[in-house]
Amino acid sequence: MQEPLFFDPVLQEKIWGGQKLNTIFGYDLPTKKIGEYWAISAHPKGISTVKNGKYQGQKLDKLWKSHRELFDNVSGEVFPLLTKILDAQDYLSVQVHPDNAYALKHEGELGKSECWYIIDAKPNAEIIYGHHAKTRKELAQMIYNECWNDLLAHLPVKKGEFYYVPSGTIHAVGKGILILETQQSSDTTYRVYDFNRKNNKGKLRKLHIKHSIDVINIPGTTPKFKITEKKVGLSTITTFVKTPFFNVYKWQVQKELFLQKNAPYTLVSVIDGKGNLIINEDSYVLKKGDHFILPAGINTWKFIGKLNLIASEPGD
Ligand code: ZN
Repeated sequence: MQEPLFFDPVLQEKIWGGQKLNTIFGYDLPTKKIGEYWAISAHPKGISTVKNGKYQGQKLDKLWKSHRELFDNVSGEVFPLLTKILDAQDYLSVQVHPDNAYALKHEGELGKSECWYIIDAKPNAEIIYGHHAKTRKELAQMIYNECWNDLLAHLPVKKGEFYYVPSGTIHAVGKGILILETQQSSDTTYRVYDFNRKNNKGKLRKLHIKHSIDVINIPGTTPKFKITEKKVGLSTITTFVKTPFFNVYKWQVQKELFLQKNAPYTLVSVIDGKGNLIINEDSYVLKKGDHFILPAGINTWKFIGKLNLIASEPGD
């Protein structure tokens, strides 16, 4: 009998971080400016640990290496996905991530496509999402001349919205936004602009202008994706995006929702509500802020209660 794998996270301090991961999710935070909660990760910069069952105490990267049956024996050097929650009390840097080919060549790791579910946003919150340069030459000129107002596309955002940010998209999460991010397991970020902010040591953070100009998509149009919604009884299944890297869903459970596996394994985050996860005869209590993997071997499951869940699977 296979069990779900619940995880202990890794927290990351950031100059733009805050305390919302405590006030909204009740997580214990070691310092005042926690920006990122790496909920499910096998990335060397922050590896989650299983906190229940037979694999309790084991790190996700080790499980991926030595218990590939939990992941349906799929191939791949590294566990490909990473789930985070970000508390942006200030703008993150304006940045871009490379695709797999560029990242493997220059950084020796995967590229990074990512996507955001907006858990909370203050009124008038906005993101930077795409740019207005027509050619790479114009892009470079605008970056070197710091024409940020003309270059960057701003977009107002609200709680409950979803954004796909494929590699090559220039972007920044704005002030007052709490997001759940599903991304490729990569930590390669090319910083284009950091608002001339200094870190706690009085230093500017490093920029990566040349790499950024190499990888930013031209033209900088906003990514296309189609969100679909399906009612199942009182519950709702929303498909946010299906990409080669990940498929991402929202499961809004109202009373109950019965599901069956359609991927080798599934990552799930409880972003609101409470209830239970039922697998065969076993019941697991779920609360806001829990994160778990449904490994291979769990073919059907049921949620009961009132829950908002974000789920992701590896892409095809
Ligand atoms: Zn990013």
